[in-house]
Amino acid sequence: MSSFSKKVHIFFKEQLEEWYLAAKNYEALKQVKTKTFHYGDFDVKVQFNPARLISGSAKTDPQSIRERKCFLCPANRPAEQRSLPFGENYLILVNPYPIFPVHLTIPELNHVNQRIHGRFADMLAIAEALPDFVVFYNGPKSGASAPDHMHFQAGNKGFLPLEKDLQFVEKETLFVHKNTQLYILKNYLRNIFVIESQKKEDVIDVFEKIEAMLPLKEGDQEPMMNIVVWYDADTWTTCIMPRQQHRPSCFFAEGEENLLISPGSVDLGGVIITPREKDFEKITAATINTIFKEVCVTDDIIEMVKQKMDH
Ligand SMILES: [Zn+2]
Repeated sequence: MSSFSKKVHIFFKEQLEEWYLAAKNYEALKQVKTKTFHYGDFDVKVQFNPARLISGSAKTDPQSIRERKCFLCPANRPAEQRSLPFGENYLILVNPYPIFPVHLTIPELNHVNQRIHGRFADMLAIAEALPDFVVFYNGPKSGASAPDHMHFQAGNKGFLPLEKDLQFVEKETLFVHKNTQLYILKNYLRNIFVIESQKKEDVIDVFEKIEAMLPLKEGDQEPMMNIVVWYDADTWTTCIMPRQQHRPSCFFAEGEENLLISPGSVDLGGVIITPREKDFEKITAATINTIFKEVCVTDDIIEMVKQKMDH
């Protein structure tokens, strides 16, 4: 464990001792119901997590955002929520509504829009400083509940199925250069690019190339995406999950068809969060397949990147 990781674990423990709400929610997390669907080479889990009801159903349209107080700004954070600085621009906070047994929110100091452009290097630096965590980014229309305040999140390693799926799922290599490779996962229900590299500059270079190729929707500032990064034995692994929809059709459906599921990095990483028990009971392997298909990009986008990467 890095020395910074040690510091973060001590900070986490202290926060649970002094902050009742966080302690209660982490205790409740130990009892949450989960179920697992098997799809050949990999699994997808479902977690019934009632504490996530607020963020899972959060209104993130510009008007609702303007009318609420930003929960990542110091003036509105709970008095018990302390912070640990990371570098010049970021703070480490304990997420009081956890999905992971150790779940951090990492906002920028200032209230600036959620944008990955120009900050991906920061994400790699956070992953390197916290090698026992996965670090993730939800785009402003891809699962972020505070699209107006830049933040990453981190959760302890060993929780997201995606981490180990990379070893077992069939891959197609798109690009190899020295110590860097770019590949996609085959038959994985969702289209994901993976960059593995020992050189930070190369990861950034490949990431920025893909970022520039992905479709940009009218009025948006960046291509819709989720990103999961981790660092292990001198290697950065970056999973880019490009998106075509913010929320799946079941989120908007009426009656029996309605499921309150608003996917972000964690869901696409293999743990679907259902804040309501009836949705947890109702969800099937086929529903998960449909949700992934609806929110992730189609094969033609992957093909387009592949073609352009060849040149
Ligand atoms: Zn803010």
